[in-house]
Amino acid sequence: MFNIVIFGAPGSGKGTQSDRLIERYGLHHISTGEVLRDHIARGTDLGKTADSYISKGQLIPDDLMIRVLEHVLDSNPDKTAAGVIFDGFPRTIEQARALKDMLARRGSELHAVVGLEVPEDELVRRMVERGRLTGRADDTPETIKNRLKVYHASTAPLRDYYVGEGKYHAIDGNGDVDAITESIHRSLCERVPGLSGINN
Ligand code: AMP
Repeated sequence: MFNIVIFGAPGSGKGTQSDRLIERYGLHHISTGEVLRDHIARGTDLGKTADSYISKGQLIPDDLMIRVLEHVLDSNPDKTAAGVIFDGFPRTIEQARALKDMLARRGSELHAVVGLEVPEDELVRRMVERGRLTGRADDTPETIKNRLKVYHASTAPLRDYYVGEGKYHAIDGNGDVDAITESIHRSLCERVPGLSGINN
């Protein structure tokens, strides 16, 4: 199993690059934001709780989010996947520790964290544009401001955490989408043994 976290601020391109990496390496995609939006659309209890945080640009509490992730991981129908790409999880140090334990209990580990680094004005521009094109409910100016504040306070410290673990791959996430995918691939191949063998 080859497990990657795709990491970065909201609007940094995690979803877009995840799609590319899934195709390239045959990974199963777990996006916690998508899982929660699906619950909101279906009107489940979890969806109602999640909506009350997401609409304000706040994070879902760690204990709930960790339980959701564990459930999603165990109900992964894609048993033939080469591994998992985690998109939007972890977002706090507590979640990062939980992910490590969760993978260890399943005889696996996290191999790499791809950190998409994008200047703040570009993040805002992308989210405003996405809100305009898709109508995504939390891509409004006020919520965007709050999401970036929460990112800096709770999620950005994970960069140092993963640098300390020797897993962090800093990627310039500004520019051409294909060029960014290539730089992720090159960076991963340099440090992850066997990866160049599973790409296609
Ligand atoms: P995303 O699609 O990853 O930008 O997530 C959208 C929203 O879902 C976030 O702004 C949070 O409110 C919530 N969310 C997604 N993943 C997590 C997580 N790992 N921890 C807490 N909240 C999350």
